[in-house]
Amino acid sequence: MQISTEQAQSIASKVESFVRNVVVPFEGDPRLGPHGPSEELVRDLRKLAREAGVMTPHVLADGSHLTQQQTAWVLKKSGLSLLGPVAVNTAAPDEGNMYLIGKVGTAAQKSRFLAPLARGEARSAFFMTEPAAEGGAGSDPSMMQTSAVKEGAEWIINGRKAFITGAVGAKVGIVMARTRREPRTAATMFLVELPHPAVRIERVLDTIDGAMPGGHAVVAIENLRVPADQVLGAPDEGFNYAQVRLSPARLSHCMRWHGAATRAQEVAAAYACARKAFGKALIDHEGVGFMLADNLIELKQSELMIDWCAGVLDGGSLGTVESSMTKVAVSESLFRVADRCVQVMGGTGVTRDTVVEQVFREIRAFRIYDGPTEVHKWSLAKKIKRDAAVIPASSAHPPEG
Ligand SMILES: Cc1cc2nc3c(=O)[nH]c(=O)nc-3n(C[C@H](O)[C@H](O)[C@H](O)COP(=O)(O)OP(=O)(O)OC[C@H]3O[C@@H](n4cnc5c(N)ncnc54)[C@H](O)[C@@H]3O)c2cc1C
Repeated sequence: MQISTEQAQSIASKVESFVRNVVVPFEGDPRLGPHGPSEELVRDLRKLAREAGVMTPHVLADGSHLTQQQTAWVLKKSGLSLLGPVAVNTAAPDEGNMYLIGKVGTAAQKSRFLAPLARGEARSAFFMTEPAAEGGAGSDPSMMQTSAVKEGAEWIINGRKAFITGAVGAKVGIVMARTRREPRTAATMFLVELPHPAVRIERVLDTIDGAMPGGHAVVAIENLRVPADQVLGAPDEGFNYAQVRLSPARLSHCMRWHGAATRAQEVAAAYACARKAFGKALIDHEGVGFMLADNLIELKQSELMIDWCAGVLDGGSLGTVESSMTKVAVSESLFRVADRCVQVMGGTGVTRDTVVEQVFREIRAFRIYDGPTEVHKWSLAKKIKRDAAVIPASSAHPPEG
């Protein structure tokens, strides 16, 4: 099912009004802790979202997904509050996990694992990264140590994972494990019902960010037995599916954080217009006005980059290169935006009296997950080198003399 631009924009404006009017007042709720909103707060927000008709707004009644460009309009609005994505079910990692199960899962897997996620009745977690101290998978997923071995009709998984967002409280897990070493390391994705006695939360990490329910956990997986029909897609294809998930998942982070940075800019602009120093409003001091102007420019540049990459994905491409470029540009740009918002607000900017301080912390973490900036640039440089190899020498070099 496809919907028109007008219909998609109307969904986006419904989400915006829900987030601004209903969700924002919950931002000071005591059920918001250092590891995200409590399960009870998530349930309450989702009940309100259902009543307002904005639950999982980027997935249509027949299960089809809005185009990526339409998704951008909706997810940017959901991001206007840090609680917005979790309230309307556009948050990471669920959004990316739903997308992947929708693309790769069997009909039975979709009804068992995807349906409760899409209804907003369950949360999920994606288990790929492993503890750095043990030399496990991080920037380089081929270093994966968690292994899965086939025994009869079951796979047995053992290993440790780290930074697993939302593992605490998740009902659905997508666990990646190495299933082959030679000739190249291959991994498989497994769907797992959680909580499970063989999937033990060791600790929840204390991190700079704090918007995602359940926080980010270190998890031990000990003799987890998974029936073969819970392999997501085909065995040994895990790294390929990670690519399927990664481009739209990366892009959806850009969308949500664009919404959050827009909100920070609104708060900083209001402060700069109301607050006076040296006889005039802060915004009338060029140094402050220019910071807000730079923000406006970078927000628009980020929006255009998101729209461009979304168009590439809508055209049927995996968009690996484009989503790398967009992730780097948008995460770095929105971080500068959030940093300027903090600066414009002086001491108030670093307090928790407004949302600006948390937006800054959240976007700092975004420069690392879904591929640190340097890893994307490194992979873009490899592409530049490949492309350079096929450019005829005569056109690559400037004429002499
Ligand atoms: C808040 C948060 C949530 C997360 N949620 C999840 C989750 O739900 N599931 C999951 O599986 N993982 C998750 N992660 C993990 C995340 O994907 C990894 O942190 C990321 O892939 C980097 O891996 P690493 O931390 O091991 O860094 P390392 O691999 O140790 O890299 C450290 C740094 O080295 C540099 N570097 C690495 N390779 C290169 C290169 N080729 N060229 C130049 N520089 C390089 C980069 O600057 C990088 O930041 C999350 C991380 C964070 C911070």
